[in-house]
Amino acid sequence: MTAQFDVAVIGLGAMGSAAISFLAARGVKAIGIEAHFPAHALSSSHGDSRLIRLGYFEDPSYVPLLHRAYENWRALEGRLRADVLMITGVLQIGKPDSKIVSGTRASCELHRLPYEELDRKAMAARYPAFALDEGEIALLDPQGGYLRPETAVMGYLKLAAADGAVLYFGEKVTAIEPDDAGVTISSDLGRYRARKVIVSTGSWIAELVPQLKEHANPIRQVVAWYQPRDGFATQPHRMPAFLRDEGEDGSYFGFPAIGVDGVKIGRHAHFMEPIDPNWPNPPVNDRDTALLDGFIAKRLPAAAGVRVNAITCRYTMLPSEDFLIDRMPGEPRVVVASPCSGHGFKFTSVIGEILADLAMEGGTRLPISAFSFEAMGNFLASRKIQARG
Ligand SMILES: Cc1cc2nc3c(=O)[nH]c(=O)nc-3n(C[C@H](O)[C@H](O)[C@H](O)COP(=O)(O)OP(=O)(O)OC[C@H]3O[C@@H](n4cnc5c(N)ncnc54)[C@H](O)[C@@H]3O)c2cc1C
Repeated sequence: MTAQFDVAVIGLGAMGSAAISFLAARGVKAIGIEAHFPAHALSSSHGDSRLIRLGYFEDPSYVPLLHRAYENWRALEGRLRADVLMITGVLQIGKPDSKIVSGTRASCELHRLPYEELDRKAMAARYPAFALDEGEIALLDPQGGYLRPETAVMGYLKLAAADGAVLYFGEKVTAIEPDDAGVTISSDLGRYRARKVIVSTGSWIAELVPQLKEHANPIRQVVAWYQPRDGFATQPHRMPAFLRDEGEDGSYFGFPAIGVDGVKIGRHAHFMEPIDPNWPNPPVNDRDTALLDGFIAKRLPAAAGVRVNAITCRYTMLPSEDFLIDRMPGEPRVVVASPCSGHGFKFTSVIGEILADLAMEGGTRLPISAFSFEAMGNFLASRKIQARG
C-alpha cells in the first residue's frame, strides 16, 4: 500500500528543511525526500557562513520579512540550544551613490533602522582590515552578521524528526502527479501519496516545475578562504562581515576569520557562468583565483595571507534576481520555493513558515505578493517591452 501524508516536501536543503520543521511543529503528517544528504557539496547551502542584514539595499520591501526571519532564527536557536545567527555588524562599502550604499541608506531610512556612516579615516581607525579609496564610505548595519548554514539545515531537520516527520535521504523524486484525490510522488525508490507537495529542489527546480524551465538558471559561484596576514584585525569583533560595491566590477562579500580556514570572500554571481545541475561543479581555475586574490590584496590587505581553500558552489538566478514563492499556476496543491537568486539563505527561517502556511492554509499573512508567478510574468513582460522600445 502507498504511504499517505498530508504534505510531502521535495528537497531538504535550506528551504525544505525549514518548511518540514514548521509543518511537523504544527502536527502535520509530513514526509521529506532528499536526493543526497543535508547541506551537501552540490547544494547551495554549505560553506560555513551566509550574510544576514536588515537594511536591505536590493529593495526595502524585503525588510518586514527580515524582521520575521530574525525572530524565527532566534526561535530556532532557542529550540536547538545552539548558535545559528552571529551578530558582527555588516559594513556596506562603496561610493555614496553606489547601489549598495545608497540602497542600504534608503532602506534604513524608510524603515527607521539604525545605521552608522564611517568615512575612510574612521574605517582605518575602527576596522583596520579594510582599505577604502578616497571618497568611499561604509554604512554599518549593527544588526547584521552571519548565519551558520550547516547548523541551520541540520537543526531544522533534527527538530522535524523530533516532531514526527518522516525523512528519506538518497532518494530522488522523478515525478509529481496531481489527481482528483491528492498528489502521487514517484522517486527512484518508491511512490507516496500526499494531499499537498512543496517543491524546494534548489538548482534542480526546473526539473519538477516546468514553468521555471527557461527562467531558473543555475550559475557557478566561487568562494575562497585566506589565512589572514593580520590575525588580530580580522577577528569577528574587529572585522564585521561586509558587502562592497565595485561599480562595473560588480559586488563582493566576505566574512571575518570565523573558522579554521580564516577570512572568506566571493564576488556576487562570480562570472555568471551557467552550469548543468546534474554535473559536478566545475573545479576552481586560475581565472577564479586571480579575481579573488586581486580583490583581497587591494581591498582587505590585512586578510591577504595564504589562500588555503577555494570551492565552487551554485546560485540559481531568476530574471529579476528576486524570489519565487507561490502555488503552481493551475495546481494549488503544489507549492514552489525557488532557490532565491543568491541571496535567500537569510530568509530561510521565514520562507519555511511561509511554505507551511501556503501548504496548509492556502495563503499567508506574510508579504509575498512580489514573489508570485504573476509578478515574474509581469517582470518578463516589462523586460520585453523595454527591449522592443
Ligand atoms: C556561495 C554562496 C554564497 C551565498 N551567500 C549568501 C548570503 O551571504 N546570504 C544569503 O542570504 N544567501 C546567500 N546565498 C544564497 C542561499 O545560500 C540560497 O538561496 C539557499 O541556500 C538556497 O537553498 P535551497 O533550499 O533553495 O537550495 P539547496 O540548499 O540547494 O537545496 C535543494 C535540495 O533539493 C535536493 N533535490 C534536488 N532535486 C531533488 C529531487 N528531484 N528529489 C529530491 N531532492 C532533490 C538537493 O539535493 C538539495 O539538497 C549564497 C549561495 C551560495 C551558493
